[in-house]
Amino acid sequence: MSANPATICINGQWQNAKNKQTIDVFAPSNGKKISAIARGDAPDVDFAVKAARAAFEGVWSKTPAVERGRLLSKLSAKIAEHANELAELEAKDTGKAMKLARNDIAATVRYFEFYGGAADKLHGDTIPFLDGYQVIVNRVPRGVVGHIIPWNYPAQMFGRTIAACLAAGNTTVFKPAEDACLSVIRMTELAHGVGIPPGVINLVTGLGHEAGAALASHPDLDYLSFTGSPEVGTQIQKMAAEHHTPCVLELGGKSPQIVFEDADFDKAIPVIVSAIIQNTGQTCSAGSRVLVQKSIYDRFVAQLADKVRSVRVGAHDADLDCGPLISGAQCERVKGFLARAQADKIPVLAEGAIDENAQPGGYYVKPMLLGPVDPAHELAQLEVFGPVLVVIPFDDEAHAVQVANGTAFGLIAGVWTENGGRQLRVAKQIRVGQVYINGYGAGGGIELPFGGFKRSGYGRAKGFEALHEYTVTQTIVVNHG
Ligand code: NAP
Ligand code: MG
Repeated sequence: MSANPATICINGQWQNAKNKQTIDVFAPSNGKKISAIARGDAPDVDFAVKAARAAFEGVWSKTPAVERGRLLSKLSAKIAEHANELAELEAKDTGKAMKLARNDIAATVRYFEFYGGAADKLHGDTIPFLDGYQVIVNRVPRGVVGHIIPWNYPAQMFGRTIAACLAAGNTTVFKPAEDACLSVIRMTELAHGVGIPPGVINLVTGLGHEAGAALASHPDLDYLSFTGSPEVGTQIQKMAAEHHTPCVLELGGKSPQIVFEDADFDKAIPVIVSAIIQNTGQTCSAGSRVLVQKSIYDRFVAQLADKVRSVRVGAHDADLDCGPLISGAQCERVKGFLARAQADKIPVLAEGAIDENAQPGGYYVKPMLLGPVDPAHELAQLEVFGPVLVVIPFDDEAHAVQVANGTAFGLIAGVWTENGGRQLRVAKQIRVGQVYINGYGAGGGIELPFGGFKRSGYGRAKGFEALHEYTVTQTIVVNHG
């Protein structure tokens, strides 16, 4: 790493936060200090928004779409060149297993590749109107976009938001989560290295209630993209509302995997387990509820439990199935859910194991399978954000749909059945942004529009739809007589 991680980047200049303060960074695998980042605050955010505004009105508006795309493609290649270094940084900083960190960097490369290629393919429209008129509908960038992202997939989030935002012609001020910033700091440096002009990407690290709140409430933002918890999402909308700043919100989920009696168990079980243990359950689209038809309940749950028992948890560099959780606070939160489940006498069906080499001081929890769980219980309603899978029995199709839709969330769902009619019938009734039939797509599919219904948020990331989120239409009506 060459940029000093304790600095922020404004207008291409790496500098201390104006208050000169820093925040220590700890490795989740052993709880030891590994670095420090700058504690940016309101004056830094204000300076960064001004730099983003100047770059938007200046250099970036004058950069043709094809050239913006080329710069993003160059950044894609540069990230690929540094893939090992970035994966190691990401794994150490977040605790995730190396193989997942490698996948995350590959996905980040793909985001810049996809949007690099898409930049010059986003076009407007014409509309037939009255005789003597020509109507042109242009798609124009929103302007200066604030990004606030969580700690679970910092590298991928950087790719998902920055690539689409810049391809569409916007500039940005980016605020990563204090718990995981290192890969983002390094990629911001790489972005400047490939020639993305100063002021186009401004990075301000810091605390949510300081730098994050200063960004969300800044009066000169044109758009705000937030990925994180529903609770902070509510605060963000209130802050943005002061200045009528439009938002896109990607919030949490309590995503169901629905297993019908004709499902292929061997196909379903490895995918269902991997969709809850991926990133140690700290994935917004984690499949955290498995709904199982009563006629197969005992047989299916016995096989699922065997698979959960095989899961191993260890340090990021042990490269097992799961790493530690991100922080001591997250560990306490997950353990709180498990303690309350125990007090409520919810049976534990299986647990994975923590590897004996997992280092003391790391934030480890065992993956757990619990059930049957009442659909109204908090374990079946709230996002645990840990490797905790709950099983809920159901009677028939109508009951499955009712339970699947019976939470405040609506992010993604998996449907497991070999019956073609049922596949589509059920998929169409579930109120979520993505439905997977006989598969599950946590984290995948850069090309696929992604986002929530209900408390999971609104607006769409990924795919071509993200380019529509990052632009608005402007209609020009010409009376040519
Ligand atoms: P979080 O607490 O909501 O934090 C998200 C971001 O908001 C962080 O950068 C945080 O900064 C910042 N923040 C916190 N308080 C703020 C405030 N008052 N004003 C402005 N910004 C503030 O979420 P998290 O714990 O990092 O991440 C877990 C949550 O994110 C889960 O609910 C998960 O489902 C959701 N998530 C959703 C998606 C999706 O695409 N749908 C993807 C990933 C995660 P600090 O951390 O530095 O305080
Ligand atoms: Mg960290």
